[in-house]
Amino acid sequence: MKSVPFFNYPDLYSKDRENFQKIFDDVCSRGAFILQKELSDFESELKSYVGASYAYGVSDGTNAMILGLKAAGIGDGDKIIMSSHTYIATAAAVKLVGATPVFADIGHDNLICAKSVEKMSEKGATAVMVTQLNGRCCDMDGIQAVCHKYGLTLFEDSAQALGAKFKGRAAGTFGAFGTYSFYPAKILGCFGDGGALITDEKKIANDVAMRRDHGRTESGEIGLWGTNSRLDNLQAAFLLFKLKKLDLSIKRRREIAAIYDRRLKDISEIILPPGPNDDDHHFDVFQNYEIAANDRDKLKSFLHSKGVGTLIQWGGKAVHQLKNLDFECSESFELERTEIFFTKCIMLPMNETLTDHEVCYISNLICLFYGYKPEVAHE
Ligand SMILES: *Cc1c(COP(=O)(O)O)cnc(C)c1O
Repeated sequence: MKSVPFFNYPDLYSKDRENFQKIFDDVCSRGAFILQKELSDFESELKSYVGASYAYGVSDGTNAMILGLKAAGIGDGDKIIMSSHTYIATAAAVKLVGATPVFADIGHDNLICAKSVEKMSEKGATAVMVTQLNGRCCDMDGIQAVCHKYGLTLFEDSAQALGAKFKGRAAGTFGAFGTYSFYPAKILGCFGDGGALITDEKKIANDVAMRRDHGRTESGEIGLWGTNSRLDNLQAAFLLFKLKKLDLSIKRRREIAAIYDRRLKDISEIILPPGPNDDDHHFDVFQNYEIAANDRDKLKSFLHSKGVGTLIQWGGKAVHQLKNLDFECSESFELERTEIFFTKCIMLPMNETLTDHEVCYISNLICLFYGYKPEVAHE
């Protein structure tokens, strides 16, 4: 039987083994481990790739948000509007700086809905933190209009959207800051944990640069209370190498999405994400390919029995549905779309190592499951 894992971790390394070994040998031989040239080179490349004034490599995407929120002065008493269809990390970052997450509903593309954000804004908030989910930007025109109308600051958890654009502008560059994650399965993954924060605001930039390194200023003085949240120079060296090929891997992800789109679009039992060329305003990078499926659990077992790995994002629960956490705003939940979506959502394999043949195999199985005739022609 053919087997297609949801994500092929060893492939991250084996694809470019020789280059990675060379990088490892070079960096380690020089003893260049902490805050060295590869890190600042990577930061320069990253900021020019997305079009930001400042970029800082940090330990991971979660700490990038925590540092950014602190630098932006978010703390006790602040309410931050976000989607409940996000990783716990988005809400945790807000909680850990002393602020309160307030959830808005999702729209037809499963991303935070500007209308729902507006409804929540009427009840009072400090900021909106959008999650640029699955490699797609939210409706940034709508979100920015609401922020403007209610005087809210905008932040972006763009952990899943490096390279994605809305009207030509990169995910991460709309907010006072944007954050990325380099967790191995992310679109630009390193060999462990890693993250970055980008911003155009000098004050946030200086603050984050200090906070990630024990509050140290450039001259080595301690300027404020900080922590240790630096991106390893070795990881930065691998990322610097991989960033140069990022556009190719995005291109491949978009090709895979186009095959899924073509082969699955006639199945009325499932709802697909917008296709790669459906909308001139969005350039999606397909970090994930998340669909809404009738009989989702049966589909998952069926695909599993045929050797195909799938994943239900966040363990099948929206953030507000996590019972052990103390969400104070429970009376204001109007998250109908989010809750329906979580009974149907499932992610199909999506990464650059998939072959066309594998994508067709998966698509044909889904056709078979719902009783549709699979397309015979090969891609
Ligand atoms: C991965 C992810 C994060 C956290 O990134 P880490 O690097 O794992 O800390 C935050 N938000 C979203 C939406 C993510 O997918």
